[in-house]
Amino acid sequence: KKKIAIITSGGDAPGMNAAVRAVTRAGIFYGCKVYACYEGYTGLVKGGDMLKELQWQDVRGLLSIGGTIIGTARCKEFRERWGRLQACYNMVSNGIDALVVCGGDGSLTGADLFRKEWPELIKELLGEDKITKEQYETHRNLTIVGLVGSIDNDMCGTDSTIGAYSSLERIIELVDYIDATAASHSRAFVVEVMGRHCGWLGLMSGIATGADYIFIPERPPSESNWKDDLKKVCLRHREKGRRKTTVIVAEGAIDDQLNPITSEEVKDVLVEIGLDTRITRLGHVQRGGAPCAFDRFLATVQGVDAVRAVLESTPAIPSPVISILENKIVRQPLVESVAQTKTVSAAIEAKDFDKALQLRDQEFAT
Ligand code: ADP
Repeated sequence: KKKIAIITSGGDAPGMNAAVRAVTRAGIFYGCKVYACYEGYTGLVKGGDMLKELQWQDVRGLLSIGGTIIGTARCKEFRERWGRLQACYNMVSNGIDALVVCGGDGSLTGADLFRKEWPELIKELLGEDKITKEQYETHRNLTIVGLVGSIDNDMCGTDSTIGAYSSLERIIELVDYIDATAASHSRAFVVEVMGRHCGWLGLMSGIATGADYIFIPERPPSESNWKDDLKKVCLRHREKGRRKTTVIVAEGAIDDQLNPITSEEVKDVLVEIGLDTRITRLGHVQRGGAPCAFDRFLATVQGVDAVRAVLESTPAIPSPVISILENKIVRQPLVESVAQTKTVSAAIEAKDFDKALQLRDQEFAT
């Protein structure tokens, strides 16, 4: 039976706890031992009490708690080969032979690299007499399974990442609050939302709250006339009797020449048409709070499937990432999902915005 370590890594997302719970309990159910690896990859690199076995009751009550109780981090050491060698040593000396990583594309890129390097790393440890021949033989292969935890919904090959819908719910709740005061004072609000290079949160929240205008990186407006267009649209809405103006600016918003579009610039344009305008940066409240029903469900069924994927893995099968496509939980080669995700940024940089939308593989692409 396997010894599985569960890691949450990169930016935290609501539902990561539910994933930890599901992996722990499914692992125990299938007769495995499950270990928490604390603080993302830092726990693997440091070892010791940062790797701790989890019992059934240790994950009780986690479904409704936001963030991740086992901690997450951006671990510089894991980006270096020596850090991954240390991680390999800590895994082998604890008898851990499988990793379930819940994180964004960065974390999953690191996971894939680790698996690729594993045969060399373990050979090196044997050569340096850090591990026994027997440990070498039993740990020749590393099993890695990815779960996509990210509020941004920026991973290709899956309709939704764990945390995205919770964050979206939080955003629209907050925009509704803003709308109430905006309408009372007849004001304009520029609302900045997270999403890094992905416009999913911006677009979805804009549609769900009936925003006047939305700026997202995958459908950038023209450098030469976005300001005029913004003015025209907002004035038209006002002329029709609207008492508030809401403009959503995604974190990665750009124009078609790749210049960033900032909330300040948008505000200045609205001030020019006479609107009393405020900027609201929602910030980290977007990450917090209890996961919504969908994320609890998604993390649970994907966590269970991650354990099954660990048990069914063979060296011939590439590391999978557990995805959801058209309402079905499916496994995809991790390396392909990560590679496709990187091509989106490349397409944006090449100003091929239609391709970027297509690659995102999201319904809003149309
Ligand atoms: P996210 O997983 O949310 O995209 P990051 O990109 O910050 O977040 O990645 C999280 C962590 O994953 C990093 O701090 C690092 O430990 C690991 N990681 C990311 N990219 C790599 C890489 N190319 N090689 C090795 N480790 C990586």
